[in-house]
Amino acid sequence: MVLEKLIRHARGAGIPAGPVAACATEAAGRDAGATISDLADICDKVAAIARISDADALRLYRSRDLNVLGALANIVRERKNGHRASYILNRYLNYSNICILSCQFCEFGKKKRDAGAFELTIEQMIERVASDLRRGITEVHIVGGLHPSLPFSHYTDMIRALKALAPNLHIKAFTAVELYHFASLTKKPLAEILVLLRDAGLDSITGGGAEIFAPRVRNILCKGKETADEYLACHRAWHHMGMRSTCTMLYGHMETLEERVDHLRRLRELQDETRGFTSFVPLHFVPDKTKLAHLTPASGFDDLRNLAVARIYLDNFDHITGYWIALGMKLAQVSLSFGVDDLHGTILEERIFEMAGGRGGQQQTREQLERAIREAGRVPVQRDSLFRPFKAGETAAELAQEFTA
Ligand code: SF4
Repeated sequence: MVLEKLIRHARGAGIPAGPVAACATEAAGRDAGATISDLADICDKVAAIARISDADALRLYRSRDLNVLGALANIVRERKNGHRASYILNRYLNYSNICILSCQFCEFGKKKRDAGAFELTIEQMIERVASDLRRGITEVHIVGGLHPSLPFSHYTDMIRALKALAPNLHIKAFTAVELYHFASLTKKPLAEILVLLRDAGLDSITGGGAEIFAPRVRNILCKGKETADEYLACHRAWHHMGMRSTCTMLYGHMETLEERVDHLRRLRELQDETRGFTSFVPLHFVPDKTKLAHLTPASGFDDLRNLAVARIYLDNFDHITGYWIALGMKLAQVSLSFGVDDLHGTILEERIFEMAGGRGGQQQTREQLERAIREAGRVPVQRDSLFRPFKAGETAAELAQEFTA
């Protein structure tokens, strides 16, 4: 029954036999056995391009019928993005890991006198970015801890210096909690901080710091961090300035499935209002070296299910990103048939997951990313920070000119 519906829906969506049919065939085999899928009404909604409810999302989360989930997510994914799978040439840059907070899940943040605490000068940051510009990066992604004493002018100077180095380099920087920290340092309203940073050259803000929105979890995991309302208000204000951002969810620690649905609901509501999110980036929690090392991380099954539910539920998001740093490249490849259409990027010098004990690997070349995408049966497309495709042979400078002309 579910098999027939999936194949019908896949055909209706113009999706050729392939991953969907394969998933559906497998699903049918399982339906004949002990596991009877009860997701037919959700199949109908997906086919009709109708929004699923929170209760539907919870049923999907509770389902163990991963093949049906994957097939449904794949229908939405191919409807929105065909067989394309995008990636960006980017590098990460952490200006400092010194932080006044002590989030339980974080091994990156340190106190000033701790071993492993670091601070980069603006000159050191410029040096690192300059060497990677020669490797073709088009985006730098900058975050850090909540530094107790650096003045706000340090951050605007940092952005200006990077823009002076490469005017077309897209600067994506700061999580919502860092932005609130700047507001608190300067005693200025958040809206003014956002304008000052944009005027200095900030192009996008990052999606980090969302964790799980439920106050129950935040009180345990990250006491003192911005609330869910504050996270959303920050992104709302940035979007209302005509700017874009990504959003995240850190999962696989102590959250319930209901709390995951609540998190997705709040993101979907804000996206309805602003359309300012470019992509949703679920982050698999790595407990190994953190204070929560006793927790069992999400399984590969849960990773794929989480991505698939997000793809089906977040109908107003164009893109779902598979964060290979946390998933590992092998699972990230599989995720391309479970709703994911973007593999983030080359991600030179990632430190936050690495310090938590992540084993997903460090940096990919363009060739490695493209090979991984092709092996998964998708078509690699290099994108810019706003998910616009590069044309073959186009340089970052040409792209920026084209889109500002
Ligand atoms: S997650 Fe961010 S705010 Fe929390 S301790 Fe780590 S660096 Fe600081």
